Amino acid sequence: MSLTKTIESLSEKQKKEKESLDLFLSTQTVIKEALNKLDFSNELFELLKEPLRMLTVRIPVKMDDGTVKVFTGYRSQHNDSVGPTKGGVRFHPDVDEEEVKALSVWMSLKCGIANLPFGGGKGGIRCDPRNMSFGELERLSRGYVRAISQIVGPTKDIPAPDVYTNSQIMAWMMDEYSRLREFDSPGFITGKPLVLGGSQGRETATARGVTICIEEAVKKKNINLQDARIVIQGFGNAGSFLAKFMHDAGAKVVGISDAHGALYDSEGLDIDYLLDRRDSFGTVTPLFKNVITNQELLEKECDILVPAAISNQITAQNADRIKASIIVEAANGPTTLEATKILDEKGVLLVPDILASAGGVTVSYFEWVQNNQGYYWSEEEVAEKLRKVMVGSFETIYQTAQSHQVNMRLAAYMVGIRKVAEASHYRGWV
Ligand code: GLU
Repeated sequence: MSLTKTIESLSEKQKKEKESLDLFLSTQTVIKEALNKLDFSNELFELLKEPLRMLTVRIPVKMDDGTVKVFTGYRSQHNDSVGPTKGGVRFHPDVDEEEVKALSVWMSLKCGIANLPFGGGKGGIRCDPRNMSFGELERLSRGYVRAISQIVGPTKDIPAPDVYTNSQIMAWMMDEYSRLREFDSPGFITGKPLVLGGSQGRETATARGVTICIEEAVKKKNINLQDARIVIQGFGNAGSFLAKFMHDAGAKVVGISDAHGALYDSEGLDIDYLLDRRDSFGTVTPLFKNVITNQELLEKECDILVPAAISNQITAQNADRIKASIIVEAANGPTTLEATKILDEKGVLLVPDILASAGGVTVSYFEWVQNNQGYYWSEEEVAEKLRKVMVGSFETIYQTAQSHQVNMRLAAYMVGIRKVAEASHYRGWV
């Protein structure tokens, strides 16, 4: 590798690390504001501003070519005053400590919003699963569980899928944990395949939750969903199922994107065709010629914009040019705080990530309950229970925003932080 190339990649890494740090600092800013609004003490902020525990591990993996590669992994546990911590594990080349920390704080907030008996946790491994074989991924997944096994467990900290992890990876992790403990432990992890104790409706849960938020948001804005034009950034688990649900509901999906680019058609895209052609990482745009950039897509004409990919997409640089009147954040942290301010001034209804994406962890909770009781619910039962949680959470946050004259993001933080703050207080921690 040439020296220039090394410097380039170093600065890219540093840029990403700065972004993660900014994300974490913005989260702390809003938590402070939310605790102030709720008249909680500064000691509580001191406790909640950082995770209680952060474990960094190094995982040696035998690669298919015979060499050994050492990967870095993390598990962050924000606060366990409410109950065991809960949250996904992401496999991504950009994963770093600050990002995992911020994501674990958001999990506490999501669990608080959905009123689940969990605190927030999150894990990640710095790797690129797109360039790894099945066998390498299995060895990495098992190695990660061995490395973090002391601090996780069905009543301690329960992992789940996140970016670039899926039910197969959950199955390997559950098997490794069960072998270590020498008893079957389906409640150790959620997002498992159905035959291993997974829940009906878990795979589509995040997209279902986002769909319910969209249905509630259009009512508030007096928009008819059948007349709405929707742009979805990201075609992964959340984005692709959401495109399908919106298309089936009669809405016009005019834009979608993947990591390589975006497609836009004001007449509506052929969603069934795109779903059919996407690969397991959600890539589909390389098959097309008329591809625009992800940034261009965000500024296209539409009524509802759903960032369902990565963080820091809507910033002070482009917020002014966003045309949508409703933004529903299916990704974690897609809008910066400066951008949120600009969108507020424009009168955009922004449904924040910690509410919009709470469907995944909610059905994970249902999966864990079913594992504990050993009795399983039908898809309809799960869907009905999820709807109840999402509609209730949306309404509580909307009403909190109205009564405190704050935006939906701050209202969501207020609702989300209350439970963990009170639980920490009752336990006598502060
Ligand atoms: N990774 C998902 C999230 O960020 C789901 C977490 C879970 O199911 O525990 O909400």
